[in-house]
Amino acid sequence: MIPAAFEYSRAHSVTEAVAQLREAGPEAKVIAGGQSLLPMMRMRLARPAHLVDVNAVRELDYVRVEDGHLRVGAMTRHVTLARSEVVQRHLPLLAEMASEVGDAQIRSRGTLGGVMAHADAAGDYPTLATMLDAMIVTDRRRIAAGDFFQHLFTTPLDLDELVCEVVFPVAAGPRRYLKFRRRLFDWAIVGAGVQRTEAGWRVGLTHVGPTPVRARGVEAALASGATPVEAAAHASDGLEPTSDVRATADFRLHLARVLTRRALEQAA
Ligand SMILES: Cc1cc2nc3c(=O)[nH]c(=O)nc-3n(C[C@H](O)[C@H](O)[C@H](O)COP(=O)(O)OP(=O)(O)OC[C@H]3O[C@@H](n4cnc5c(N)ncnc54)[C@H](O)[C@@H]3O)c2cc1C
Repeated sequence: MIPAAFEYSRAHSVTEAVAQLREAGPEAKVIAGGQSLLPMMRMRLARPAHLVDVNAVRELDYVRVEDGHLRVGAMTRHVTLARSEVVQRHLPLLAEMASEVGDAQIRSRGTLGGVMAHADAAGDYPTLATMLDAMIVTDRRRIAAGDFFQHLFTTPLDLDELVCEVVFPVAAGPRRYLKFRRRLFDWAIVGAGVQRTEAGWRVGLTHVGPTPVRARGVEAALASGATPVEAAAHASDGLEPTSDVRATADFRLHLARVLTRRALEQAA
């Protein structure tokens, strides 16, 4: 389907983007890579009256390491994350996740900031951000990942607020992220990520509820010396996933345990 009619403006800086959003009013939306927004507009699930295009905001396209943190600009595309030597060296799990997002076209256009702001339950980076306590930096504040993903497609962002950066702690120890999906380019039916940090294992789950989940039961079990098999049995503790056309709730719980065990066993 063809999207409903909309006005369009192009911003060249963060200041300009926020000003354009304010001027266009509450029916305006940012467009970044367009890989989630445009399909929703074509299906008429989204009908923004005005799109503020941030693709020319070059100041939001960067990857750098500062004070033990990897700082990534919101307009950094999946393909850049996957290929960046800085990301591969300082947070390789992020590069590995990026290399498995959608297909080549989606990876060439989609952005880190777009995934965070969209807050789809099946998004991969929100899980990494949640398990590592990353910080989402906007044009006006810093929001901890644990407070950012409030519900499905729901964040605390104001209508005229722009995600500018995501700040991850660096972590280059053993790690693995596994997705269960029917086809290579599909979203995760369920995903599980593990990362060894200086403070111990961090474990996160994708698409087992409306928001990403930090599997604290698994982390605690590992800290007490449990084996991967024993620890992964806790991956479904406290989860209440829903059933949909892709998986029943029980299957999702099963996948959470199995993928967590495999991720721990394969972590390198
Ligand atoms: C077939 C398919 C498979 C996919 N598979 C995966 C997958 O496996 N894993 C995964 O994580 N993602 C997947 N995606 C989604 C993809 O990663 C998108 O790129 C991403 O969800 C949105 O990023 P975008 O830059 O395209 O944002 P857009 O589509 O442009 O925007 C999405 C939403 O975020 C808002 N937004 C965008 N940028 C900002 C910003 N800087 N500040 C504030 N709001 C902003 C927009 O207003 C809009 O509401 C898939 C998409 C498709 C179509």
